[in-house]
Amino acid sequence: MRSADEREKRNVAGILFIISAPSGSGKSTLVGELRKQLSGVDFAVSWTTRTPRGSEENEREYNFTTREEFERMIAADLFLEHAEVFGNFYGTARHSLDEARGAGHDLLLDIDVQGAAQVRASMPEAVSIFVLPPNPKVLRTRLRNRSRAEGAVNEAELYRRLSEASREIENFRQYGYILVNDILDRAVAQLEAIVLAERYYRNGEAIAYRSRRVLEVAAACLQANSQERLKPVLEAFGMIGDSRQQELNFEEDSDDD
Ligand code: ADP
Ligand code: 5GP
Repeated sequence: MRSADEREKRNVAGILFIISAPSGSGKSTLVGELRKQLSGVDFAVSWTTRTPRGSEENEREYNFTTREEFERMIAADLFLEHAEVFGNFYGTARHSLDEARGAGHDLLLDIDVQGAAQVRASMPEAVSIFVLPPNPKVLRTRLRNRSRAEGAVNEAELYRRLSEASREIENFRQYGYILVNDILDRAVAQLEAIVLAERYYRNGEAIAYRSRRVLEVAAACLQANSQERLKPVLEAFGMIGDSRQQELNFEEDSDDD
């Protein structure tokens, strides 16, 4: 893979990657791992009106701000997209895209399904990736473990995020690539393969001796090729088959307390 400097010298057009997932699926974890492994991909630090969680720092995970300031930014048309999620505002500043483009870097947006729809409408060339948890029970366990690690389990907030998950998952068909974040290393390798494959197809970036395997891994993640892989996940979320399954799995609570 070429270094960021080499990419800059070649004046390669940056690719816009959108990644969405129900909260707790492991999207931030995947993005963090990807950034350790690949250069030349910037991460847009969003603005939000929610309060920081756990060890989150201002300007690192998010730019934390007030509702008044956020509304002022909307009025000044400073956002590429923005949405209300779980009662808080979230948005991507336009300058994130300008800066990444200026540097010839790819840009990764971690945004919800509403924001993704807005970006796709204005930039249909964006590469979109949807991350699914393997089943509702794993999602609940991850959300709960994360809350515990942050020192506060808010049952109402947990329930809200779980209830929202199935509704968000219904949007997966709007996305080009689908990842099932079951085994972390595998999901990271798939995400990396998608980025490398898109660089190869769009910009002619060399991907060395691993190229064939990388292209195969990425192709297998295309939504069009994911029907069989997704079947058990969609069944577990009650989106196909017995819809009562979803309620049952969310409420099974004995193994992670
Ligand atoms: P999101 O950004 O989608 O809300 P996070 O990245 O915060 O989710 O992950 C939620 C929790 O699940 C975290 O505690 C994280 O460490 C854990 N997690 C993420 N991916 C995996 C995985 N593949 N296997 C096990 N735990 C995971
Ligand atoms: P969390 O509060 O768990 O960090 O994020 C909640 C949801 O907000 C996630 O689905 C996340 O992708 C989404 N989100 C984070 N930043 C943005 C943003 O800038 N725009 C939009 N539309 N959604 C965002």
